Amino acid sequence: MKSTQSSATIEDLLKRLPEKFTAADRELVKRAYQVAEEAHREQKRHSGEPYIIHCVAVAKILSEMKVQPEVIAAGLLHDTVEDTSITLDDLSREFGDTVRNLVDGVTKLTHLPRVSRGDQHAEDNGAAEENHSAPALLGRKEDIVSETLRKTFIAMGKDVRVMFIKLADRLHNMRTLDYMPEHKRKRIAKETLEIFAPVANRLGIWQIKWVLEDLAFSYDNPEKYKEIAGLLAEKRPEREAQLEEIKTHLVKLLKSHNIKAEVSGRPKHIYSIYKKMQKKGKSFDMVRDIRAVRLIVADVPSCYAALGVIHTTWRPIPGEFDDYIAAPKNNFYQSLHTAIFYEDKRPLEIQIRTPAMHMKSEYGVAAHWRYKEGGKGGDKNYESFISSLRSMVEMESEARDANEFVETMRQDVFQDRVYIFTPRGDIIDLPVGSTPIDFAYHVHTDIGHNCRGAHVNGKMVSLDHKLKTGDQVEIILAPKRGGGPSRDWLNSHLGLVQTQRARAKIKTWFKKQEDDLNLMQGRAALESELQKLGLNENVNFEKMARSLNLKNPEDMFLALGNGDLTINKVLKQFVQEEEADSDIFKVNPSAATATATDAIEVVGLKGMLSSMAQCCNPTPGDPIVGYITRGRGATIHRQDCPNILQTKEHERLLRVGWGRSERTFPVPIYIKAYDRPGLVSDVSNLLTDENINITDVTVNMTEAVANLRLIIEVRDITQLSRVLTRIDNLPNIMEVHRVKPG
Ligand code: MN
Repeated sequence: MKSTQSSATIEDLLKRLPEKFTAADRELVKRAYQVAEEAHREQKRHSGEPYIIHCVAVAKILSEMKVQPEVIAAGLLHDTVEDTSITLDDLSREFGDTVRNLVDGVTKLTHLPRVSRGDQHAEDNGAAEENHSAPALLGRKEDIVSETLRKTFIAMGKDVRVMFIKLADRLHNMRTLDYMPEHKRKRIAKETLEIFAPVANRLGIWQIKWVLEDLAFSYDNPEKYKEIAGLLAEKRPEREAQLEEIKTHLVKLLKSHNIKAEVSGRPKHIYSIYKKMQKKGKSFDMVRDIRAVRLIVADVPSCYAALGVIHTTWRPIPGEFDDYIAAPKNNFYQSLHTAIFYEDKRPLEIQIRTPAMHMKSEYGVAAHWRYKEGGKGGDKNYESFISSLRSMVEMESEARDANEFVETMRQDVFQDRVYIFTPRGDIIDLPVGSTPIDFAYHVHTDIGHNCRGAHVNGKMVSLDHKLKTGDQVEIILAPKRGGGPSRDWLNSHLGLVQTQRARAKIKTWFKKQEDDLNLMQGRAALESELQKLGLNENVNFEKMARSLNLKNPEDMFLALGNGDLTINKVLKQFVQEEEADSDIFKVNPSAATATATDAIEVVGLKGMLSSMAQCCNPTPGDPIVGYITRGRGATIHRQDCPNILQTKEHERLLRVGWGRSERTFPVPIYIKAYDRPGLVSDVSNLLTDENINITDVTVNMTEAVANLRLIIEVRDITQLSRVLTRIDNLPNIMEVHRVKPG
C-alpha cells in the first residue's frame, strides 16, 4: 500500500466485492492484499508493472465470479508460495487452512512434473514450459492433454475452486500476453485453446471460456482473427439496429401472450464464428448472418410457452431445436435452443432459459457455490461431480510415477471423463465408457443416426468399443444418409450407448418414427370416416385443425393416431363450426320435414296420423308408446298409462320416442348386407333408438345380398357418423355409407 497506483487497485477491488460480503470478509481480502503486496514488492511483470497488479487482477476476475472471500484471498496470494519467501505454514497461520490449501493447489498445478519431459521449471504462465513446441501431431497433443488434465484433475479433485483461481490467472495472463516474448505467445495461446478453455467449458464457466478462446485465437491465428473481427466491425451498426428491432418485436410478442421476458442480443465470439466456419465449411458471409438473441423468462413452463409462441409465429429451422432443459449438457448447461426464419426470412438463433439457468451457464460450478451460500441448497449433480473429482486425490499418493498415474487416471479417475479427438483434432469430452455411438451423437445428431461403424486410431472397431482418452475417432457413416439408429442401441445389456444425451436423441428418433406412424393411421381413420359420410371432397383439414386449436392438420392426425383426440370430437367441432351450413349435408332445405303432432314431434310414426292421448296427456320427456287405433292413426300414450298397461293387443303397440324440435336433414344412406332374418327390423330399431325417422326405404335383393337404400332424417354429422358406425356393427353388414348427394 505504498504506491498510489497499488492502493488504487485495492480500493477498486474492495469496491467490486460481492455486496453480501461482511466486514470480516472484506478484512480478509484486505489482509491478503497487504501480505501479497509486501511479498511481491520487488517483483515486476513482463509489462514492467508491479507484480501485485497481476494478483489484484486475478482477484477481480474471481470477484466477478462471486466466489467466497477465501477464494478471493487465495487469488491475491496465488503466486506467493511459488515466487516469494512466504511459506504454506505462513499462510495457514495467517489465513487458515482453506486459503493455504487453495494456494497450495494452484502452486502444485504449476509445479507438477511433465510426464514425457521430466522436471522442468515452470514460469508464471502455469504449465507452459520452455521447449514445449506447438503440437501438430496427435501424439504430441495427447501428451499435453494427458499431462495437463492430470494436473487439472488433481487440483480440481482437491478443491475445484483451485481451478477457478487457475482460470482467472490464465485469463489475466492472456490479457497481458503481448508483454511475453514472441516465441512464447503462440504456444501459450495454443495451450489455452486446447486445455484451459475446455476446462472452463467443462466447469461450465462460459464467461471465461469465451474470453480465453477469443484472446488465444488472436495470438494463435492473428490473420484469421483480424479478418473476422474486421468483418464483424464493418457490419456492426447494421447488425445492432437489426437486433434492437428484433428485441422490441420479441418482447411485445411475448407480452401479448402474458410471458414476461428479458431479451438480449448475444455477443458474437470470434472464435466460435471461426469454429462454425470450419465445421460447416462455410465462408464468413454465410455465418455472419446468423443473429442470436437470448430470452430470460421466469420459470421452466415459461421457457416452453415462449418457445411455443415463437414456433407458431415463425417457421422453425429443422434440426436446430435442442432441449437442454430436459437433457442438460454434460457440463450442466441448460437452455432451449432453436432457430427460426425471422420476418426477413433470414435465420435467427434463439436461446431460452430461466435466471438460474443463466447464472449457471455464465459461471458454471462457481454459481453452484453461490447458490449453496444463498441457502438454496446444493445441486446433486454438482455434488457427485465434485466428489468423483475428490476420489482421485487418494490415488495420487499411491501412484509410483507420473506415467503410471496417468494410466490410473485413464482407468479410474477418469471414470468421470474421457477426452476424444475428432479427425480435425477437436477435443470431445465424454463420460468414461462412452462408445463410438456416443461420440457420433456428441459431434452431431445426424452423424449419430447414421453411424454404422468407427475407426479408432485408424483401426476398425466394433460399436461397443469403449473409448479412451487420447483416442482419435472417425465415424463410418451409412452410405445413404437419412437412416436411423438401431433399437439395439437402447438395450443397456449391449452397452452400445453410455451418455444420456445420445440415449435421448435415439429415443427422440424412435418417437418421431412412431409419430409418423400414428400420424398416418390417424389420417387414414379420419379420411375413411369422412368417406363414409360422403364428406371427403369438401373438407378443409387446415380449417378443421384450426377449429380444434391445433397448429396444422399433421398435429390433428397425430392426436387422432395416438388417441389424444377422437374422430367424434373432430366431427362435432367441425359441425359446430359449420353450424347450420347446409353445405355439409348438401340437401335442399325444403326437403327437410318434421312430423308434428300437436306441434310436438314424435318419431317412429312417419306418415301416420297421430294424436296425443287424452287419458294420460304425455309431455315431452315422458317415456311414451304409440297405439294404433282403428281408423284414427295412432295415439301417443305414456308408457305407464293404465289404458296401455291393460291392453291385450300388444301387436298394436308401436315403439315411439320424442323427437327433437330441431331441424333434421334427410340423408340417403346405402347398406349392403348378407341377408338374414330380422336384418331390416334391426336397422329400424336402431334408428328408432337414435330418434331417427326413416322417410324412405327400398330393398333390393341380389342372391343372398340385400341392398338397402334408406333416407333417414338426422340432426347433424355426428349423429350420422354414430348411426353409420352402429349399423356397421350389426351382424352381416358388409358396407354402409352415405350416398353422395347429386
Ligand atoms: Mn499468476
